Amino acid sequence: MFNIKFIKSINSIKDLHKEKKPEVILCGRSNVGKSSFINSLSLKKNIAKTSSTPGKTRMLNYYLVEEKLFFVDLPGFGYAKAPKTEIQNWQKLIEAYLFTPQNIILAFHFVDSRHKPTDLDLRLNKMLKELTIPYIVILSKADKLKQSEKYKIKKEVIKIFPELDFEKEIILYSSVKGIGHKIIETNLSKLLK
Ligand code: GDP
Repeated sequence: MFNIKFIKSINSIKDLHKEKKPEVILCGRSNVGKSSFINSLSLKKNIAKTSSTPGKTRMLNYYLVEEKLFFVDLPGFGYAKAPKTEIQNWQKLIEAYLFTPQNIILAFHFVDSRHKPTDLDLRLNKMLKELTIPYIVILSKADKLKQSEKYKIKKEVIKIFPELDFEKEIILYSSVKGIGHKIIETNLSKLLK
């Protein structure tokens, strides 16, 4: 468990955080479980607003972890209900953020463990690679899978992203059960050293 503080939500490029600290980005489709992931790692619960909070998916959210690094929660891709202009706006925001020199050291790319990576995931992955940001795939909501399905989805993911390490970089995670917590905590502790 970590000391995680919510810092701010922004919806405009001019409000990008200026303080230089290493940044770990959390990205993936909206509703994939990013906020629940933050809450599950945090000593204080309900620090991250979940998708049911209106407007939340349109923001880029900063969290400070152990006073040392930022989690930057990128707005969800593929939020079909929003008007087109809004979708364009937050896509611009994500791109502006990613292409502004930052201290991004790692990305947690969230994929719902019940579904194969989508076209949106492939686009996101392409962007991460272009920017040479190392990434780990987190297969969220793994508590919903049977044991045999867990192996199957990891095999699907490694087919699509063959450069990943099967054990260390494709991680089944559940925010409601303990699945994957240990490996994520170990990873984070290393980054915080
Ligand atoms: P976000 O949009 O990526 O921040 O997603 P949220 O964290 O708001 O989660 C979206 C929905 O999925 C919520 O209803 C959560 O309760 C649910 N959820 C998130 N993580 C898990 C998980 O590990 N297991 C289960 N069963 N449900 C989850």
